[in-house]
Amino acid sequence: CGIVGYVGSQSALDVVLAGLKRLEYRGYDSAGVAVAADGGLAAAKKAGKLVNLEKELVDRPLPTGTSGIGHTRWATHGGPTDANAHPHLDNAGRVAVVHNGIIENFAALRAELADRGHRLVSETDTEVVAHLLAEEYSACADLAESMRLVCRRLDGAFTLVAVHADEPDVVVGARRNSPLVVGVGEGESFLASDVSAFIAHTRSAIELGQDQVVELRRDGVTVTDFDGNAADVRTFHIDWDASA
Ligand code: GLU
Repeated sequence: CGIVGYVGSQSALDVVLAGLKRLEYRGYDSAGVAVAADGGLAAAKKAGKLVNLEKELVDRPLPTGTSGIGHTRWATHGGPTDANAHPHLDNAGRVAVVHNGIIENFAALRAELADRGHRLVSETDTEVVAHLLAEEYSACADLAESMRLVCRRLDGAFTLVAVHADEPDVVVGARRNSPLVVGVGEGESFLASDVSAFIAHTRSAIELGQDQVVELRRDGVTVTDFDGNAADVRTFHIDWDASA
């Protein structure tokens, strides 16, 4: 229901959790985060309110990393359990993804992945995306390109945001029929389902267009369509009252 992504020099966990709090008004039943740190990914997810996730992070702290993703879930496929909470990871734990919306053709993709030996551990429509990204990444070693290839195979409405352990300085987002806004800061970049998640850090934003993929880096962002063609990017200024 709410999505936040961050690449910069601050603790990604702190930025992402603060962003998720700003999105709490949307309502949700579970929450989770993943950060790229120490050459791998570290993730935590919990059913219930953000305080449950925060308690989990106290009991089992994550290593500090400067890129990460977070999610508050409003369950559509699979009940509100820890296992169904996002992020979802591939079996090797190298790629993590969060998702808003519904992947309509997930059942066919799930069966296909199971046939190829993937072990799916949740009841969500989302989890297939982590496994598909892992497959594409093993062929092209490029997360943005993997996301474009996967999106072309998905039906439905989605905002997707992913991070890969092999590209710890990159966060990738994609959207179709579901909103995603990019925040462009000084030496840091943000992604969220709503500008309120990053308004404390930057007022410079880009609204992602339909069927586009964004690659977030510290020093800027690259936007393409699902075929990899560069997209026109128009930056706008958020002039909301920060106290709102
Ligand atoms: N369909 C996904 C799920 O049930 C995402 C739900 C959402 O938008 O939060 O896990």
